[in-house]
Amino acid sequence: MNLYSTNHLSEDVNFQEAIFRGLPPDNGLYMPSFIPTLPSTFWDSVEKLSLQEIAFEISYTLLKEEISADDLKEIIEKSIDFAAPVIGISENIHCLELFHGPSMAFKDFGARFMAAVMSYFLKKSEKTINILVATSGDTGGAVAQGFFESNNISVTILYPEGKVSDIQEKQLTTLGKNIQAVEIDGTFDDCQALVKKAFLDEDLRANFNLASANSINIARLIPQSFYYVAAYAQMKRLGKKIVFSVPSGNFGNLTAGLLAMKMGMPVDTFIAATNVNKVVPEYLESGIYTPISPSISTISNAMDVGNPSNFPRMSAIFNGELNQMREVVKGTFFDDNQTREAVKEIYSKFEYLTCPHSAIAYLGLKEFLEENNSEYVGVFLSTAHYAKFLPEMESILGFTPEIPERLEVLLEKTKISTKLKNDYQLFKAFLEENLI
Ligand SMILES: *Cc1c(COP(=O)(O)O)cnc(C)c1O
Repeated sequence: MNLYSTNHLSEDVNFQEAIFRGLPPDNGLYMPSFIPTLPSTFWDSVEKLSLQEIAFEISYTLLKEEISADDLKEIIEKSIDFAAPVIGISENIHCLELFHGPSMAFKDFGARFMAAVMSYFLKKSEKTINILVATSGDTGGAVAQGFFESNNISVTILYPEGKVSDIQEKQLTTLGKNIQAVEIDGTFDDCQALVKKAFLDEDLRANFNLASANSINIARLIPQSFYYVAAYAQMKRLGKKIVFSVPSGNFGNLTAGLLAMKMGMPVDTFIAATNVNKVVPEYLESGIYTPISPSISTISNAMDVGNPSNFPRMSAIFNGELNQMREVVKGTFFDDNQTREAVKEIYSKFEYLTCPHSAIAYLGLKEFLEENNSEYVGVFLSTAHYAKFLPEMESILGFTPEIPERLEVLLEKTKISTKLKNDYQLFKAFLEENLI
C-alpha cells in the first residue's frame, strides 16, 4: 500500500514505514494513495463471513504487497480475538457493541492490530522499539493491553497522577513485563509535553528506537473498518437503508467507517455525533472549521477534543469537498444534560445500559430517525462499557449498575508505577535506564 501525506509536502511511503514513523515529516497524516474496492462477490455473500474473515479480506486487499496471506491471518487471529455483536434495541435501532476487548473500549481494535503488525515487522528485521505514549484515560489501557508481551517492544505510558479513573489506572499499572507506567505530578498536557520532548531528543534517538502509538497511526485506523462491515453484514437482510451513528472526538472511528464505504460498503449516512466540542457538526453546518481551544470538559470525556486530529483524513475521503461530505455525513451535538437523560431513557425504555459516549450516538440516531422515515435502519456505535465510567453512571442512574467480573478482578490487583515530578531531566534519566 502506498501512502501520501495529507499536507502533500512529504514523500510517499509504504505501510511499514508509515506505521513506524506515525506522522509524515510535514506533519500531515498518512492516507492510502488509492483505496481499492472489494469485489461484488464479497458484498453479495458477506453475511456468511465471521468478523475475523471480514477483517482478513479487508486487510489483505489493502496490505497484500507487504504481508503474506498466512502472516496476516495470524495477525488477525491474535489481535481481533473478541466479538463485536450487534444488539437489537428496538425495531430500527441497533447497537454495535465495541467493548468486548481487554480494555473494554473500541480502541482495543486499533491498538491490538497495530501491536501485532509492528511485532511482525520487527521480528522480520530483528529490531527493537520503545513505544512512548501519554494518556488521559482510554488510550493507555488499550495500548497497554494491546502491546502486552509483544516481543521486541517496550511500552512506557505516562499519565497524570490522580486524574484518571480507578479502573483506567489499574488497566495501565497492573500488567508489568514490557509495560511500564509513569505517574507524572502534573496534567495530561504535561505528560504529552514530556513525550514530545523525548521524541525530539537527539541523545535518546541516538541510543534508542522510539515510536508512537498515537491514534493517528494508520495501523489503528484500518482495523476499525472491520466492525462496520461486520455490522453491515448483520443488517443487510433487513433490506433497508443503513445509517451509522458514531460518537466522535478525534474522528478516527468515523473515518474508518468512511474507509469501509470507499471499499464498497453500501451505507446511506454517517452521523457525526459529538458533545459540546462541536467543531465538525459546526463545519458541516456553516462550512467554517473553527477549533475549540482549550477543549470543553464534559461527562463524555474521551470525546473532549477541540481540534479533531483525523479531520484532514475525513476531508481527504471527499477530496476536500464540503458538499460531498454533507451528502454522507450529518453532524449533531448534545450537552451533558441531554446525555444524562439519554442514559436514563435507554435504560428505562429498553433495559439497556450505555456509557455517556454511546448515549450521544443513540441521541444522534434517534434524532435522525425522527426526521427521516422508516426506510432506514440505524446502528449506533457503543464505544466503551458503561462500567468504565462507574461514578458518573451511579450519579445518573441513582444506583450502582452491575460490574463485569473482568473489571472487578482488575480492581483487586496491585498497582505498579513510577512516580516522577514533571521534570524532563528526571524523565530522561528514567528512560535511559529503562528503555531497550
Ligand atoms: C476515543 C473514544 C471516542 C472517540 O473516538 P474517536 O475515534 O477519537 O472519534 C469515543 N468514545 C470512547 C469511549 C472513546 O474512548
